[in-house]
Amino acid sequence: TRVLLTGGSGFIATHVLETLLARGHSVVTTVRSQQKAQAILDAHPELSKDQLDCAIVEDMAKADAFDNAVISEPPFEAVIHTASPYHFHAKDAKELLNPAIIGTTGILKSVQKHAPSVKRVVVTSSFAAINNVYAKAKGKVYSEADWCPITEAQANDNPANAYRASKTFAERAAWDFVKEENPTFDLTVINPPLVLGPVAHNVASLSALNTSNERIRDLITGAAKDRCPPTGNYLYVDVRDLALVHVLAIEKPEAGGKRFFTVSSHFSNKEIAEIIGQEFPQFKERLPSGEALTWGDYPVAGVYGFDNSRAREILGVPFRPLKESVVDAVHSLLSVEPQI
Ligand code: NDP
Repeated sequence: TRVLLTGGSGFIATHVLETLLARGHSVVTTVRSQQKAQAILDAHPELSKDQLDCAIVEDMAKADAFDNAVISEPPFEAVIHTASPYHFHAKDAKELLNPAIIGTTGILKSVQKHAPSVKRVVVTSSFAAINNVYAKAKGKVYSEADWCPITEAQANDNPANAYRASKTFAERAAWDFVKEENPTFDLTVINPPLVLGPVAHNVASLSALNTSNERIRDLITGAAKDRCPPTGNYLYVDVRDLALVHVLAIEKPEAGGKRFFTVSSHFSNKEIAEIIGQEFPQFKERLPSGEALTWGDYPVAGVYGFDNSRAREILGVPFRPLKESVVDAVHSLLSVEPQI
């Protein structure tokens, strides 16, 4: 299948790209600069332009940003839209809302206008678009049936709400588009919780790490020694399993028209710290212990459950255990900064 993948320089998209190529798909991936495009092409010297190419989309918050990227010869059959800002330092919610919402509706519009051969668009949403952080956690079991109830007014309360709102509103806009426009493609949405695992993308230094692996970095550098970072949400998935999910979502016709809540299991930052302590004794002294570790524990009031049966039954992905994700993530961070 010929696939357009957006945000190819990202943590998750790099693994999606590798999985697409390994399964024989041909890919064009969008990045924001020529330099990022070159880094991706340089990592795959064995591939022809037909197998892997890049297109530049500097800012998807601009109207019609994807109009050129969706056109290709041979034409695309599927699109995987992963690009969306993911960080917790937005000064104004618009920094996240605009690229997330305009980017998502923008690619759907561009495909509808210029790429009639596309049969499936896969959008990377999030558990953030499912989770109700205002509800009582205990006894609740989250599934694809749930939606984050955040409002536009709440989006400006803090940077975490800005991110939640960006993912919720962008996903809603995608489903609304399909309902209203009845395009010739169908939509599949992936809703991962926290994504952990090895970094494979170009990371200049550990200070420029993707958001979801920052907690692992802070544990191995000693930055979290006095206070284990609070876990935030207590569900995770490995980036390699998530990449396979994205690719299966274009390969399996029956994935069309559905959301997939792709959860491996529960986790806490305390458990991550304990795994690092066991597997990497050289970091033991830097890790939080005793009272400092309890900050990263599950809440005393209990934690919500999850139902990942749809992802297991339709996509059939075997989700790997936390230990493997953490150990492989640490090894990958050590390859970025061996002297850590
Ligand atoms: P990264 O920050 O590594 O990737 C984000 C990608 O989006 C980058 O390629 C970035 O480009 C691109 N991007 C951001 N803003 C723009 C813009 N205005 N125009 C064009 N491209 C833009 O994060 P992840 O890989 O972790 O996230 C990928 C997706 O997965 C996102 O949709 C995120 O919301 C979702 N997700 C992530 C989770 C996680 O725990 N990691 C959990 C749940 C969902 P550049 O690097 O050049 O800025």
